[in-house]
Amino acid sequence: MSTPPSVSAMPPIAENLQRVRERIAAAALRAGRDPAEITLVAVTKTHPWSYVEAALAAGQRDFGENRPEEAHAKFVSERPQSGTAAAEWERPRLHIIGPIQSRKAKIAYACRPVLIHSIDRPKIARKLSALAQADGGLLDILFEVNVSGEESKHGFSPEELRQALPELLALPGLVSHGLMTIPPFDPDPETARPYFVALRSLRDELAREYPDCDWSQLSIGMSHDFEVAIAEGATIVRVGSAIFGPRT
Ligand SMILES: *Cc1c(COP(=O)(O)O)cnc(C)c1O
Repeated sequence: MSTPPSVSAMPPIAENLQRVRERIAAAALRAGRDPAEITLVAVTKTHPWSYVEAALAAGQRDFGENRPEEAHAKFVSERPQSGTAAAEWERPRLHIIGPIQSRKAKIAYACRPVLIHSIDRPKIARKLSALAQADGGLLDILFEVNVSGEESKHGFSPEELRQALPELLALPGLVSHGLMTIPPFDPDPETARPYFVALRSLRDELAREYPDCDWSQLSIGMSHDFEVAIAEGATIVRVGSAIFGPRT
């Protein structure tokens, strides 16, 4: 009689990562793109630090968390400060990918994220700008756009973003690099395609209207639809469950 696998057993993270990287490369080549243009952000929300370490050991550098407090607890407080896991060459690069409540702006800033994907309203942009300015630092950001118009989704509507951009792009301490979206969930990845296309067209228009800003980044694509996202121009894919298994 064989023992059933423990529910808490760590999934084969190195193998899963390898498989995801192969799929990213194949999707890029099919689209006539260079796989090196695409950054894989491994989404570790709800998972323990040991999962981050396993991915680091497998060469992964970019990690995503959607809650600032969890990000801080894991990537700032819990991260080993000495030993191999803290070596310069394997320091994790943290991306904040979820909505930030105003009262969580400070802790989000304290995480020193390499990129905040989820600037979804002017208020949080102003708060983060003030924090960066007070600190003499710069924060790299993306604007989250709700292209589906779904009520439950965060993000600017395309119209709101257009209206707010003159102010947002002038905020000191913030450097914008492009757009992010989360389409309505549907297990069929093809359902996401029109939303990805809509985000890319919006980006292309904004790049013509504001040619002095960087609009190079499109953060689109998750575990079930990253191949479609790459076909439609993703430069960043945010992949959780395909690497770390289901979240509880
Ligand atoms: C959780 C999350 C992901 C990853 O989702 P998977 O389906 O597990 O790949 C990507 N983006 C955001 C904003 C998330 O919150």
